[in-house]
Amino acid sequence: MRGRFVTFEGIEGSGKSTQISLLQSYLAGKGIPVVLTREPGGTPIGDQIRRILLDPANKALDPLAELLLYGASRAQHLREVIRPALASGTVVLCDRFSDATLAYQGFGRGLATGGIEELDRIVTAGLRPDLTVLIDIDARTGLGRARGRNADQGLHAESRFEDEDIAFHTRVRDGYLLLAEKDRDRYRIVNGDRTPEKIQADIRNLVDRLLAD
Ligand code: ADP
Repeated sequence: MRGRFVTFEGIEGSGKSTQISLLQSYLAGKGIPVVLTREPGGTPIGDQIRRILLDPANKALDPLAELLLYGASRAQHLREVIRPALASGTVVLCDRFSDATLAYQGFGRGLATGGIEELDRIVTAGLRPDLTVLIDIDARTGLGRARGRNADQGLHAESRFEDEDIAFHTRVRDGYLLLAEKDRDRYRIVNGDRTPEKIQADIRNLVDRLLAD
């Protein structure tokens, strides 16, 4: 079997980690080789970059510096994890990828999306996901969940992004919806404002169909 590259997108608290780990168990239970990974991070070097990117103390981080750090993390991730896994026939489940850069740094921060896409083509050498699942939820609900999760874990805010206001996360959400609209072959939108079981059933259907192709 050739590997398949499946990415999960959505604002903070949309339920990506919850859904990916349920999907990983499902696929592993069927004997399908699967790896779960995430951006930024996914490698030891990427995890060091992740700490810079998510540290709420780094308020002075320049938007362009932020963009390039995401690119650096992605380049490392592709080399060490994603490409080798795909080459060995593994299903790669990735929590955020190129689309997150467009949504957050482009639509959220206001950097030109054309430039972001150009940089990303260099970083990925044109590798696109086979399927991108957008878990769509309104910003207030998503952030409320993310803050509840962090409070449970005794954290104030997980990341610089959770410190941003509702308007920022609404721009990110709307940006994602626009990206999905523009690339209907690759994107599937799943309504995230339902029980985890219902959302998971939709995602399993989508991935089963992809693997049957
Ligand atoms: P993300 O990875 O997208 O930031 P998480 O999977 O960490 O989101 O979910 C954020 C919080 O919301 C967690 O506390 C999680 O248990 C909870 N959660 C996840 N999915 C749902 C859902 N469908 N309904 C209600 N709460 C959910």
